[in-house]
Amino acid sequence: MQDYYDILGVARNASAEDIKKAYYKLAHKYHPDKGGDEKKFKEINEAYQVLSDKDKRAQYDQFGRVFEGAQPGNGQGGFDFQGFQGGMPGFDFEETGFDNLSDIFEEMFGFGSPRQPKNKKDFKRGKDIEIDLEVSLEDILKGKEKNINLPKNIKCSRCQGTGAEPGSQVEECFSCRGTGQVQQIKKTIFGSITKNTICPECQGEGYKPKKPCNVCKGEGRLKGEEEIRIFIPAGVDNNQMIKMDGKGEAGRRGGKAGDLYVKIFVKDHPVFQRKGDDLYAVLPIAFSQAALGGELDVPTLEGKNILLKIPAGTESGKILRVSNKGLPHFSGYGTGNLYVVLEIKTPKKLNKKQKDLLEKLRQEGV
Ligand SMILES: [Zn+2]
Ligand SMILES: [Zn+2]
Repeated sequence: MQDYYDILGVARNASAEDIKKAYYKLAHKYHPDKGGDEKKFKEINEAYQVLSDKDKRAQYDQFGRVFEGAQPGNGQGGFDFQGFQGGMPGFDFEETGFDNLSDIFEEMFGFGSPRQPKNKKDFKRGKDIEIDLEVSLEDILKGKEKNINLPKNIKCSRCQGTGAEPGSQVEECFSCRGTGQVQQIKKTIFGSITKNTICPECQGEGYKPKKPCNVCKGEGRLKGEEEIRIFIPAGVDNNQMIKMDGKGEAGRRGGKAGDLYVKIFVKDHPVFQRKGDDLYAVLPIAFSQAALGGELDVPTLEGKNILLKIPAGTESGKILRVSNKGLPHFSGYGTGNLYVVLEIKTPKKLNKKQKDLLEKLRQEGV
């Protein structure tokens, strides 16, 4: 399996900016819509997804690809995660009290030992939110800002998210006697495992406010709504995800907020169909226009019409290209084209004069 840094052709200490640049360059080069290698394109995207995310990158630097062959660290090589999972019918993470299999591995084999409970901040971190956002082709021509009101847990303004009634003192947590940890015995498929977990009472802090905040009842957050400004980048594609750091649910008692993921849905357009960065428009022309040639008023996504020359003897289905009137490429490099598909209209209703003229044409063998 190739190294993510090698795939993007950057050094291991490359800056986030360099990684982004390298990705844009490669994504542009290998984009399947531009005749690029699809497999290579997928690899590039996978590498970028990991290396562009601070946390995932740190994890990758430390452990390599997780769940691919060996588990993180020290000599427990050759676990086939897929096979392992498949061989455990009815195995349920919920029941065991572990978040996932790697937790159990850590517990069983002492990865990362001595076992530390999960980072306090992570425990208190707010949840990520994923929303769908519908945009029009016009929105993504130049990029656009959209404001939405997002209902979610927001930081309590009375206690500033601390969960303590203003002026209240803190006291040692009774449940864990100030250690921040409690012991749990869990039954798993491997037998009983004793596990130190974060004290649910104080969230691992060892202390808690003497008087919880009156408004949020000590949570530090409460149901509310936040107005969020989302910048829709030019050329963004259907199903592409925009990540907004810290715009998810507020954390508990001063914990870090989650992130917001905005999934883009591009609405159908009445005139233009999108294929990659190119736009297609099917436009009707009269038979006489096709035979004799002429000019056609063609709409563009920008809104300004263009006069297009139709050559004499044009057949139905002929495609004319208008350069650079498509969508900008997401990377900022280059612009797609507009393709006009000409469709010759057969008249359904004819007046007397038109009939006579067509009849004469028939006699001429046209
Ligand atoms: Zn409060
Ligand atoms: Zn406690």
